[in-house]
Amino acid sequence: MGSFKLKLVTWFALLALLPLAVAFYGYDSLTRRSETGRADAAIEAGLRGVVAAYAAQLDAATARARQLAGDPELQQALRRHNTRALAKIAAAHPGARLGFGAGGTGSVSVADRGQVLGSVTVPVPVDARLVRALDAGLAPSTALVAVRSGRIVAGVGRGGRLPTLEPGRAARVRVAGSDYRGLQTAPLSRPAGLVFAVLIPQSSIDAASRSSEEKLFSALLASLVLFGVVTYLLGRSVVRTLRRLAEAANAIAHGRLGERVEVRGRDEFAELGTAFNHMAAQLEQRLAELETERSRMRDATARFGEALAATHDEGQLVRIVVESAVESTGATGGVVIGLHGEVARAGDPNAGTERIAFPLRVGSSDFGQLVLASNTFDAEQVETAASLAAQVVVALENARLHRLVEQQAMVDSLTGLANRRRVEDSLRSELARAARYDDEVCVVFADLDYFKRVNDRYGHAAGDDVLKAFAVTLHETVRESDVAGRWGGEEFALVLTGTGSSGGARLAERARTAIEACAVRMPGGDEVTVTASFGVASYPECPELGELLAAADAALYEAKRAGRNRVVVSPESVAPKIV
Ligand code: GH3
Ligand code: MG
Ligand code: MG
Repeated sequence: MGSFKLKLVTWFALLALLPLAVAFYGYDSLTRRSETGRADAAIEAGLRGVVAAYAAQLDAATARARQLAGDPELQQALRRHNTRALAKIAAAHPGARLGFGAGGTGSVSVADRGQVLGSVTVPVPVDARLVRALDAGLAPSTALVAVRSGRIVAGVGRGGRLPTLEPGRAARVRVAGSDYRGLQTAPLSRPAGLVFAVLIPQSSIDAASRSSEEKLFSALLASLVLFGVVTYLLGRSVVRTLRRLAEAANAIAHGRLGERVEVRGRDEFAELGTAFNHMAAQLEQRLAELETERSRMRDATARFGEALAATHDEGQLVRIVVESAVESTGATGGVVIGLHGEVARAGDPNAGTERIAFPLRVGSSDFGQLVLASNTFDAEQVETAASLAAQVVVALENARLHRLVEQQAMVDSLTGLANRRRVEDSLRSELARAARYDDEVCVVFADLDYFKRVNDRYGHAAGDDVLKAFAVTLHETVRESDVAGRWGGEEFALVLTGTGSSGGARLAERARTAIEACAVRMPGGDEVTVTASFGVASYPECPELGELLAAADAALYEAKRAGRNRVVVSPESVAPKIV
């Protein structure tokens, strides 16, 4: 038995026991009183009957005496004092007493013309016979006793004493060693002082009340057992319901969210069961939502990570972050605002009532801000968006550094012109393009004349300034589509797209005169002018890269040799035009 059932039964039994015990006690004393009352009523009725029967016997005796008194023979015998005749008459009427003169109580006078001659008495003897006769009308268990002067003269306990009873009032008495309930008459007049008492054994009264008591006790016991059984069944039903709920709750605690309890009826337990099932369903649904949300987040994060790793394109990075942020936070829209205005957007950034901005800043680099719009943001969404913003900022910074390094790899640090590698790359791709489109490409080599002297005279730093000034002049001379680069030292190269050797020579000449005209101020205040020599070669006259470079270099060498500050076109490049 579960402890709850035991407790329930114990408590209910205790609660029931108290009123039942009180009722039992009250009912028991009531029964006892009523049994005694019933016995009292019985003996009272019996006693009345006895008194009436005795009175009838007395009346009968008086009638006999009266009849005898009217006998003329008796009257004559009395008148003549004839004792013999009297004795004869007396013998003929046994039980009758005849006498001269007036008799006592119960006697009938024999009179002749107003003169009392004698008396006739027919006594009713108070003996066992009388008691038996009177007793006949009583209930079998009751007994009749005749008492004179406190001594029982006939009936039960004859010769013994009957304790004094108040006439007409039943009481408990002890006669001949047994207990009785007794009721006696007031002392009678014939014979004087005679008292009749009806006795009923106390044991029969006790037996009757004991039988009621037993019945009552059985009823009490039966009701207690019934109470216990009903309480037990109730407790068992409650415990079963609670156990089912506990088992279901445990199942849910172990992750079996599909567990439900059976709901029966419409009581509070049914309500509890319904509420439990509702809670379980909600939990199941919430978990499914969380799982979906989590996998969505996982996918978004993976896509986000892959996208970040895959590109160094700033435009694409900001598009990725705004799309990922909108998707993973469920915002209505978002926008990335760069330093010069909007650069990417997703969803509808103007919808929603709330705006939340995340700065895209790391160290000294500022990429603007990510702004999300929604009707409401919770802490988790803010955290997610902040984390995405933090990651994309790193990616943006990486992209910036990557661009910088890339740039540095292609640019000459002193002059800002393309470096030799980039010049070679451009020339290679230009040659391929020209071959494809049957176009021309021209290469011009330039070398400063007597540059060593500048260095020697003004120092290396001043030489650098001259190199920078030369680079500016070259850059300004070429078109946007052309490439001007530093080949090494004080030697420069130009790659001119769609240009032949004559066009190249013209451009070189323009550059040469521009250099010549340009004065560079030295630290000491002197102004220095430099000149440069130019060598020109072109494709398709020189179809191979190496050949083209060598031809341009040879032309430059020729310009130096011929006296410097001049432009020389490679003979291979010039030759076809002559033809
Ligand atoms: P030429 O007319 O024959 O070209 O005479 P040049 O003095 O210009 O030629 P040379 O080859 O004898 O000397 C080149 C000088 O250029 C040597 C070097 O000191 C100088 N030079 C090379 N690179 C740099 C540089 O980056 N900065 C500076 N300041 N000087 C450089
Ligand atoms: Mg040189
Ligand atoms: Mg030189």
